[in-house]
Amino acid sequence: SPAAGLDLFEGDILLPKNQNGLRDPTRRWTFPIPYILADNLGLNAKGAILYAFEMFRLKSCVDFKPYEGEETYIIFQEFNGCWSMVGDQQTGQNLSIGRGCDYKAIVEHEILHALGFYHEQSRSDRDEYVNIWWDEIISGYGHNFNTYNDSIITDLNNPYDYESLMHYAPFSFNKNENVPTITAKIPAFDDIIGQRLDFSTIDLERLNRMYNCTATHTLLDQCTFENLNICGMIQGTRDDADWTHERGDSPGQEDHTLVGQCKEAGYFMHFNTSSGKTEEAALLESRILYPKRKQQCLQFYYKMTGSPLDRLIVWVKRDDSTGNVRKLVKIDTFQGDNDYGWKIGHVTLREEVKFCYLFQGTRGDPQNSNGGIFLDDITLTETPCPRGVWMVRNFSQVLQSTAKGDMLLSPRFYSSEGYGYGVTLYPHGRNSTSLSGYVGLTFQLYSGENDAILEWPVENRQAIMTIVDNDPDVIQRMSSSMVFTTSKDHTSSAINNSNIWDRPSIVGTYEKSCDCYRSISFGWSTIISHKQLQKRSFVKDDTLVIFVDFEDITHLKKTEVPVTRARRSSSGLILQSHELRTSQEDSRTVTSEEDQPGSLDARPQRHKRSVENTGPLEDHNWPQYFRDPCEPNPCQNEGICVNVKGMASCRCASGHAFFYTGERCQAMQVHGSILGMMIGGAAGTIVLSTAFIYMLSKRMPSQADF
Ligand SMILES: [Zn+2]
Repeated sequence: SPAAGLDLFEGDILLPKNQNGLRDPTRRWTFPIPYILADNLGLNAKGAILYAFEMFRLKSCVDFKPYEGEETYIIFQEFNGCWSMVGDQQTGQNLSIGRGCDYKAIVEHEILHALGFYHEQSRSDRDEYVNIWWDEIISGYGHNFNTYNDSIITDLNNPYDYESLMHYAPFSFNKNENVPTITAKIPAFDDIIGQRLDFSTIDLERLNRMYNCTATHTLLDQCTFENLNICGMIQGTRDDADWTHERGDSPGQEDHTLVGQCKEAGYFMHFNTSSGKTEEAALLESRILYPKRKQQCLQFYYKMTGSPLDRLIVWVKRDDSTGNVRKLVKIDTFQGDNDYGWKIGHVTLREEVKFCYLFQGTRGDPQNSNGGIFLDDITLTETPCPRGVWMVRNFSQVLQSTAKGDMLLSPRFYSSEGYGYGVTLYPHGRNSTSLSGYVGLTFQLYSGENDAILEWPVENRQAIMTIVDNDPDVIQRMSSSMVFTTSKDHTSSAINNSNIWDRPSIVGTYEKSCDCYRSISFGWSTIISHKQLQKRSFVKDDTLVIFVDFEDITHLKKTEVPVTRARRSSSGLILQSHELRTSQEDSRTVTSEEDQPGSLDARPQRHKRSVENTGPLEDHNWPQYFRDPCEPNPCQNEGICVNVKGMASCRCASGHAFFYTGERCQAMQVHGSILGMMIGGAAGTIVLSTAFIYMLSKRMPSQADF
């Protein structure tokens, strides 16, 4: 319980027993953490970083703010690879989101390092749980498999977590492509170690204990209706009927939380619409909630098995400006239909002061109803609702009836700006993948009603595709999210080297199912394995849920701000930083260590230790299911991407009149412009082609570095 965590944290001696992180309390951050997004980061990386921040805000008390001259901060930059220092260095520190690291889960992993966490396999007891195959590790990289003793980190009282976001994958830093460097002692966990979906339950437990979190920033309310008090919700008093708290025991009556997995559990709220009179209603009202932001998303699962005329209506009750929450506003209505399965509902609220939300069930036609309205797994977060929500029903049947390369198109969704878009699901991956047993997912534009007035091609928009883990607890959800940003570099020879994000009616192909035009799609041949889909709640009620958003992030092009204070070099600045922290709160003994006269002398020593033991931790070789370096193809202008030891290497296209060069084939050179050199005949041509081949071979080793 949160209270127990709090008690343990009061004494700083107890604290280290409950986490697997850095012991040194001076390396802990105060929130919000100031950050700078350097402009050498790609636009997509910036978007991914902000997305990861939102995950921390949803699931923990960790928070971030733009840098404004603070003493300590994190500057996110693009260096080689993905790496971070461990803990707050109190000097302003780098965190690298290198090329290919621009994913939600990787950014989360690096930030966890910055917050004070080591890799899971660095625990002193790891040899009880995993085997390290030292001979298979690339020479010079062995230090990544070091363990740390109890004076640096501690793992007491926490089980070894194979599912941790901080655990390496089997093929990390391996010499031979198919030979692992780390395997689990319980082989079943070989499929789990190195997961890069999201924080594990234990990752969050450690994080929240280390930082004494008692609440998150953006989670307002959630309810699975498993307890009798139904999360403090109350029945309306002026309505005609009541919702009932029921347990799903018979087939077709299962709840959504547990979908009938457990006996004696699996509750939901139910409103019977097969009796009573037409238009009779029942209200279910939440307790009073206090928003911090100006926008909320109410998410819930519902099922309507009665008449298509039945209605589920969402209301809010606002403060009437006298302090009483009583002003009712109707927000959205959900109508019954012939689909009797569980559906996910989203309603955007824009509440700025205290409010309640209400569910009203209405009997549409009791004479022709054999069922009712079911409600379960409500979540209210202060985050935007997804714009595109696609439920793929009977997913087990879909898997059985399709083969590699087969695809399903989502319906068309509209972005907040009015662009039509959707996703393509490949239940067994795209034809281009050599892997089997994986799902692929790509993004495409659809022509739409606003196209004539929109800007084309549509660049600098971030597409976020999420395969949703339907765990009833939003904090425990480990959804698989992939992000990319549309760019002027995304061209295709199939459309005469036009940008694939140009107007679909011009560069797309006609699609019968939507009676619209569909662009070339862009994304991942493999995104998640079938095994992984079965492990968590990705396929619940035999339904796969996919969210897809498409938002303008042009405003992130210029985000870097200059560092206004010198990085700490004098003792004066140290004192200043200390004042800053004590004034905020924090009278824990741990901080007072810095108060002692002479603490300034101690600092170089501590700093030295941090250099020896807590230098930047590197991460690369992400599991293949997560990321093929050639997916999405980083090579421009139809360059062919080759996976060279896990790194992307571009083989550029060349034509009669021109050829492409550069790491990503981004630069076009016209033979004509060098043709002058060729006057004189064959000898010149030979020189030119030799130079081209030389460029290709020279590029290879440098590619292998990132
Ligand atoms: Zn790491």
